[in-house]
Amino acid sequence: MSRCLRQPLQPGERCWYIRSVRVCVLSSGSGGNCLWVEAGGTRALIDAGLPLRETKRRCLDAGLRFSELTDIFLTHEHADHCHAAGIFARKLSVRVHATRGTMRALRDPPPPQLRFAVRAGVPVQVGALRVTPVALPHDACEPVAYVFDDGAVRAAIVTDLGCAPPPVVRGLQGLDALFLEMNHDVRMLLDGPYPWSLKQRIRGGRGHLSNLQGAQLLAQVLHGGLRHLTLAHLSEHNNTESLARRAAEKVLQKFGSAAQLCIGSQFGPLDPVQLDPARLLPMRRARQLALFA
Ligand SMILES: [Zn+2]
Ligand SMILES: [Zn+2]
Repeated sequence: MSRCLRQPLQPGERCWYIRSVRVCVLSSGSGGNCLWVEAGGTRALIDAGLPLRETKRRCLDAGLRFSELTDIFLTHEHADHCHAAGIFARKLSVRVHATRGTMRALRDPPPPQLRFAVRAGVPVQVGALRVTPVALPHDACEPVAYVFDDGAVRAAIVTDLGCAPPPVVRGLQGLDALFLEMNHDVRMLLDGPYPWSLKQRIRGGRGHLSNLQGAQLLAQVLHGGLRHLTLAHLSEHNNTESLARRAAEKVLQKFGSAAQLCIGSQFGPLDPVQLDPARLLPMRRARQLALFA
């Protein structure tokens, strides 16, 4: 976005090129995961868990240019994340990026010429966007989170992980926006209708983050520059928006954060979030260890 191209420059005046990243949660939850990320001329989806037609409808609802989609980054092979990746590639000729393990495990892989391998810790540049995969503990072949930045704004989507070991925490420092899993409330999960084996899988180290675990991870990566937080992948049966929101608000309030808080849904898109470069906001010093002691 250019602030001054429409008026001729005066002698000595400088023209600032203002970079920004636009992000939109199109769907979040076990019914399908899909996040729109846009910077410069690059328009990408993180995961393609909705049918193509529904993805297109939601993009148009949210005012996003679906026809200009260029890339898809897959986090892992579970159907709620990759259901439509092959169809997207065949119909729209978009590039599909995934780890080798994820790509091998896809039931409907994209054509070979549209497959691009990524590796945890190794950034890839796609137009204006730099995308860095972060390895996650989850019961899939080679699952990752994604950190993306345009050199000025940095955001991450982190869902489908059973715990957050130090490399994950390190990978999520200095974010302007965070899309973070808060899958379940432990009490609701234990008292709920799922079979015991499934409850154990969800609670396990390669399952999903509870509200409490999500809050603990948030406390470890929160800083004065975090401007936006969306809670993601909430379970329809084992969580409520208010429980997840309360867990996140407790952390934001404790540290005096002014980050905007939203909750992702699988039933419709959220409003797009425009992230322009900004200075760090003042915030009370995080006393992370004291919070959950
Ligand atoms: Zn999932
Ligand atoms: Zn999964």
